[in-house]
Amino acid sequence: MHDNIVQMAGQKTIAIVAHDNKKQDLLAWAKFNREALAGHHLIATGTTGKLLHTELGLPVIRLQSGPLGGDQQIGAKISEGVIDVLIFFWDPLEPHPHDPDVKALLRIAVVWNIPIACNRASADFLISSSLMPQEYERLVPDYDGHRNRPVHLDAA
Ligand code: PGA
Repeated sequence: MHDNIVQMAGQKTIAIVAHDNKKQDLLAWAKFNREALAGHHLIATGTTGKLLHTELGLPVIRLQSGPLGGDQQIGAKISEGVIDVLIFFWDPLEPHPHDPDVKALLRIAVVWNIPIACNRASADFLISSSLMPQEYERLVPDYDGHRNRPVHLDAA
């Protein structure tokens, strides 16, 4: 399978999600990195977005709350090519009603090879990468083999 190139602009669209037990951590991270975040477009699940907007005073596009479909909305936007980076502070110590959505979001981010950070240290490394403010050629596997695969149907 060969790769296609997806051109990422210098100004990225960063999706941000934090589970309730991780929201404090996320806000502290976001406050520390406010200047870097201000150079990008921010989009978040409902409650995370509201808190981020209040804390940073930056525009944040708000989707549904995670358990109400917000994680799935972010996943859909990743597959549409709208989102460049995912910051996802998920809680490893508590089950959630939307655990299948969490897995689905992480999966789709890998399918489209977008950068992901799932904890504060990774998010620090990601946001401070010299690649963040630069244009970047992201390699995405050519999925035409999948799209054009033979599907065997029973004869009528
Ligand atoms: P929230 O959703 O930002 O609306 O709290 C986050 C999540 O639990 O996925």
